[in-house]
Amino acid sequence: MRLQVIGDPVLHSKSPVLHGAMLSALGLDAAYDARVVRRGELPDYLRWARNHGVAGFNATMPHKEDLLPLLDGIDPAARLTGAVNTVCLREGAWVGFNTDGAGALSALGEVLGFDPAGSTVTLLGAGGAAKAVALALAQAGAERVRVCNRTLKRAGELCARHPRLTPAPFDPDTLERLCRGADLLVNCTSLGMEGCPRQFEGFSFLDALPPHGAVFDLIYHPAETELLAQARRRGLRAMNGLPMLVWQAVLALEHFLNRPLDRGAMAAAASAALEHKPLF
Ligand code: NAP
Repeated sequence: MRLQVIGDPVLHSKSPVLHGAMLSALGLDAAYDARVVRRGELPDYLRWARNHGVAGFNATMPHKEDLLPLLDGIDPAARLTGAVNTVCLREGAWVGFNTDGAGALSALGEVLGFDPAGSTVTLLGAGGAAKAVALALAQAGAERVRVCNRTLKRAGELCARHPRLTPAPFDPDTLERLCRGADLLVNCTSLGMEGCPRQFEGFSFLDALPPHGAVFDLIYHPAETELLAQARRRGLRAMNGLPMLVWQAVLALEHFLNRPLDRGAMAAAASAALEHKPLF
């Protein structure tokens, strides 16, 4: 079996390490490698993949949205999000899935014991990752998800996809107001990411979270962002983006193999492999 991850850039991707570890834990004779595919090259890649025995692939920037019109079938969660990160060849048809949202929910449940049902969430950002996480939380029963974004119009477009999503601006006063009573704060912006020139202007909004509130930063490089450090300093539970990265891969592998796996064992194999490789 041959599997790949495609994107541009893609050579920094952790997917070959994660999937390689899970495939060897399963004792499967399968290869998983990274392939640079530039914007506009997807139709050529799909032809090439079919002719070279590729059974499935993960997609990263800039293909997650561009793939949709090129596939033969799309899973409902991926259609709602408007993006796919996992594509499988099933009886000659390319079928797309999105495991980012479900991966985030699994990580929240496994690491923070967080159950979205009936919860109030404040989510920062309205880009690709925010879309997948906000919609997954709303579909899993979150009572309200307030989506704060610098470009308010983009937050409005995301929130139009589900009635329990509400758009809000991204400014200190709004963040503080919306953190009051929130069970979970999720950072889906690139603020604090290695290489991102900008940082949060301040962190006083964290003081407004209730003591049981948790903070989930999707960023995993660095492993401890300033947001997470400030949350822990205030006694709040906090989680970085690595568990989500691991769980989206576990769920993608279930799609590739088209069968349920021992998810805990797969996540453990993938996490152990990451610990033995420098992240960047
Ligand atoms: P994206 O589509 O480019 O979205 C970036 C978001 O950050 C937008 O909402 C943008 O707001 C906001 N932003 C950027 N600079 C800002 C600033 N100076 N002030 C306020 N907001 C700012 O990126 P993405 O793919 O969603 O990724 C977002 C983050 O999630 C990245 O750090 C990425 O590494 C991480 N991620 C993690 C995982 C995981 O598995 N853990 C998966 C995917 C992504 P505007 O709309 O106003 O531009």
